[in-house]
Amino acid sequence: QRVGFAVVGLGALSLEAILPAMAKTKYCKPVAFVTGHDGNLDKGMKLARQYNVRPEAVLHYSEYEKLAQMPEVKVIYIVLPNNMHEEYVLRGAKLGKDILCEKPMATTVAACERMIAACDKAGVKLMVAYRQQYEPNNRALAKMIREGKLGTLRSFIASNTQNQGREDQWRLKKAMAGGGCLPDVGIYCLNAARFLSNEEPYEVSGTTWQPKDDPRFTEVEATCSFTLRFPSGLIASCNTGYAGHSSQFYRVEGVEAWGALEPAFGYHGNKLMMSKLVDGTETQMQPRIQEQDQFALEMDHMATCVLKNLPPHTPGEEGLQDQKLLEAIYESARTGKAVKVAVPSKPTRGP
Ligand code: NAD
Repeated sequence: QRVGFAVVGLGALSLEAILPAMAKTKYCKPVAFVTGHDGNLDKGMKLARQYNVRPEAVLHYSEYEKLAQMPEVKVIYIVLPNNMHEEYVLRGAKLGKDILCEKPMATTVAACERMIAACDKAGVKLMVAYRQQYEPNNRALAKMIREGKLGTLRSFIASNTQNQGREDQWRLKKAMAGGGCLPDVGIYCLNAARFLSNEEPYEVSGTTWQPKDDPRFTEVEATCSFTLRFPSGLIASCNTGYAGHSSQFYRVEGVEAWGALEPAFGYHGNKLMMSKLVDGTETQMQPRIQEQDQFALEMDHMATCVLKNLPPHTPGEEGLQDQKLLEAIYESARTGKAVKVAVPSKPTRGP
């Protein structure tokens, strides 16, 4: 039994990762596309032939509400620019469909709160697509941390940088993206620090750089470094950038061992390394972990939640907490002061 997905937005992520991954899922299939930003449905129709979607199920954004009349659509997957997530989640919830929404959840805390409230009111599920939380290396390391194999965590160090191309893209427009590198790629470091440690930061500080002479960065930051302080004493030091060569890694340092992913955050090829004392000698090892498509695992998780009526592991509350922290990091960068953040009273992640 496969759960039908309507994919909303046929841009780079949908074409390069989500649709190819559908074929690798156990429980999902694409059954509708919502597209046509450039005024026609040509791209959607071509993909419909490729992915065996009925031509009548290729809709223009203005026809989004027709999904309500399509019982085969169980999940709406929002893969649009960040500032459009809210509108399509709110409209999608009214159609009574469960929703998977790309990261970052939205561009403001208020929008995230409205999205959670709308899905609660409509009685539909809302999951944020934090693919790394479904990726086997990350999951293996998180499990080892929970089992105490690293000892008490002391520090987390991470970087996620890339060189952004054209200056006219929505990712470099503050109103559409919510910021620059921080909400787009820095969020992977932030979210990893939270889910690996299973703790919530109570204080953040941040600093950003926005070069005046680079037309890509008239609205958003090119680099951002931030620190998260956790109640146990764990400190996370993270870096993110949009103006340098691609660099992706993290290392979690405990009292008894460290675990690292390099590369980390990529669609493929993440590698886990561990280091600890064995008979008095510092010994590095690479646990054997079978590579699996993390997008497929993430979508299968959503489908399983729908089939078994379970709450998603990364619900709207997880996206909301990241958004609160992103806004606090920007506030700290603006004011030059550390910013306190309320620790959520309930866990933001499901099992
Ligand atoms: P993209 O620009 O390649 O695609 C965006 C899609 O939205 C396009 O099909 C575009 O036509 C459509 N669109 C509709 N209305 C639009 C408008 N007014 N302006 C611009 N585009 C409009 O972007 P993408 O890389 O596919 O990113 C989409 C979402 O997925 C973003 O939220 C992004 O953060 C997220 N994303 C997640 C990952 C991941 O690994 N999970 C990777 C890349 C992107």
